[in-house]
Amino acid sequence: MNRYLKYFTIILAAVSFASCAERPLDTNSQIIDSQSRKNEFDRWIEKNYVDPYNIEFKYRMERNESDLNYWLVPAEYDKSIQMAKLMLFLCIEPYDDVTGSKEFIRSYYPKMIHLIGSAAYNNNNTMVLGTAEGGLKITMYYVNSIQLDPEYLNYYYFKTMHHEFTHILNQTKPYSTDFDMISGPDYVADSWSDAWDRQDGVAQKNGFISTYASKEAGEDFAELLSIYVTHTEEYWNNMLNNAGESGASKINAKFDIVYNYMLNSWNIDLDELRDNIHDRQGRIGELDLENL
Ligand SMILES: [Zn+2]
Repeated sequence: MNRYLKYFTIILAAVSFASCAERPLDTNSQIIDSQSRKNEFDRWIEKNYVDPYNIEFKYRMERNESDLNYWLVPAEYDKSIQMAKLMLFLCIEPYDDVTGSKEFIRSYYPKMIHLIGSAAYNNNNTMVLGTAEGGLKITMYYVNSIQLDPEYLNYYYFKTMHHEFTHILNQTKPYSTDFDMISGPDYVADSWSDAWDRQDGVAQKNGFISTYASKEAGEDFAELLSIYVTHTEEYWNNMLNNAGESGASKINAKFDIVYNYMLNSWNIDLDELRDNIHDRQGRIGELDLENL
């Protein structure tokens, strides 16, 4: 990943400001119009999202579903198909496997996924990759920049999906307030993007899995879960080594609460979920992402 991209994306967040974007509109406009007829992709969505999970998957940009504080570009049709298939394969079906049915996603997953082609750029050199609103809707940005590399996919999309879904689970069943005490005075609120020399490694030495985790306890919780399930055991152990004794002990103490919360409140073993996701990441090449 080049340094420019890294600089922009050290910071993943659900914050809002204003800004600009850079791509021209697709010649096949993906902005919805009331005359739109169902195409092949619409029928695929009905079969794979709406019928089994009761989730609406909106790839046409809808003005009243979009954040008008940003200059946004619609998701391209082909990229939307890739995202729909990958999201199902890497973010939704793993939960079906570990819970034993589609019921968990059907009951708790947001009822709408909305795709946006561009990122939402902030004035402070950060960009929004995803937002979750009131448990009902997840918006995923930056879809037109999709690349089929697992690390890239996790970094820009799927870590964000797991992060946002964690917020929704937390809103449904709260976690132990013991969690909030572990890094209690160390949370830095909106200064997170400038704290820790803007480096996750520095944040980790201070007990935070990422810079964004230091914003507040709820974000810390969602970062721990989403980074855990999208990374390998080797990555996690290296991270703990580099965090040093003090950083690692805080991260471990908080992660124990995250792990037990998922097991006791949702009957989901995060190790099993992580293994399932990794197995699937190794099989992305088997997916037909060009045809429906
Ligand atoms: Zn969050």
